[in-house]
Amino acid sequence: MRITKVSAFVLRLPEVLAVCDGTQDTCLIRVETDEGLVGWGEVDSCPTVVKAIIDAPLSHQICNGLANALVGADPLALDECMARMMNAANYYGRAAVGLHAMAGVNLALWDVIGQAYGQPVYRLLGGPFATRFRAYASVLFGETPAETYEIARRLADQGFTAVKFGWGSMGQSEKHDIALVREARRGAGTAVDVMIDAGQVWDWKTALKRAHQFAEFAPFWLEEPLQPDDVAGYARLASASPIPIAAGEAEARLDDFERLIVDGGIDWIQPDPGRCGLSTMVAVGKAAHRHRRKVVNHSFKSGLTIAASLHGLAALPNAEVFEYCMSESPLRHHIAHEPFRVEDGYVTVPEAPGLGVTINDATLNTYRIA
Ligand SMILES: [Mg+2]
Repeated sequence: MRITKVSAFVLRLPEVLAVCDGTQDTCLIRVETDEGLVGWGEVDSCPTVVKAIIDAPLSHQICNGLANALVGADPLALDECMARMMNAANYYGRAAVGLHAMAGVNLALWDVIGQAYGQPVYRLLGGPFATRFRAYASVLFGETPAETYEIARRLADQGFTAVKFGWGSMGQSEKHDIALVREARRGAGTAVDVMIDAGQVWDWKTALKRAHQFAEFAPFWLEEPLQPDDVAGYARLASASPIPIAAGEAEARLDDFERLIVDGGIDWIQPDPGRCGLSTMVAVGKAAHRHRRKVVNHSFKSGLTIAASLHGLAALPNAEVFEYCMSESPLRHHIAHEPFRVEDGYVTVPEAPGLGVTINDATLNTYRIA
């Protein structure tokens, strides 16, 4: 089997706001083969930049677009395909968005491989350790502590056993920060786990102070309190925090994840398959397991990213909870036909061959801008 075409599709809502919500636009990757198998992936990055990296024409021997690098390659030889892309992006793409684009291709290739072998991807990754995960409802903080209370109460009433609040107005002031967490806990009640995603707002000393201030509300974890590159800060924070620390969604290279785990000492590592690829996500989870840390997906995109995340976690022994994006965007709900419903608080890994997702062409046609 050979790859015949690699395409990138940019989808975007008519109105995009400056809020930390990745479901306002997206970039889908499609890999086609000469045997008729088609694989799909999704990237959580800057969509138009990703498309440019996929489509770029040959510049010179080690500077090429990813589509050019892959046409003619055997999609079952996954690591060789990844090496071809790294070689093509040698100068321009060995970090950040270059790796994000490769991550989307990695997902699409796993989708092809699973279909070729007639197996759900988690089996080819060596799983399952589990086929369902406790879903935590992932939302942004309300505008005010009172609004945060209402959201928490509503989600607890819906049957979620865990809720994460993120970004928004966290970091404005000590009093406001504490009120947000207090009201999240009050709304969720004592039986529901509450995660706090601070959104990179503090230095490590302030983060440590907040961790102590939040401790009485018993958060499940405190996520991304520091800038992603502040590994020394994470080390100081994680060694003294009364609350587990989570981070890693901003990383794409295995080395950077390992730095956060080993040097940063964090408790939960959060790979996003649409930024690091499914292969790296599983490698990150295994590295965390060797250091007796836990792994959880970061996913704030469509059912494609949800499916990839489920396959990744199913192949790991140290997964437990699942980030379940609660955005109401059509780009969250209507790209994949499969709904990934939460039942009794759990979300289940797809069983169909490949990633187990089928693409809704009507959504593509409605929201595609490039
Ligand atoms: Mg986060």
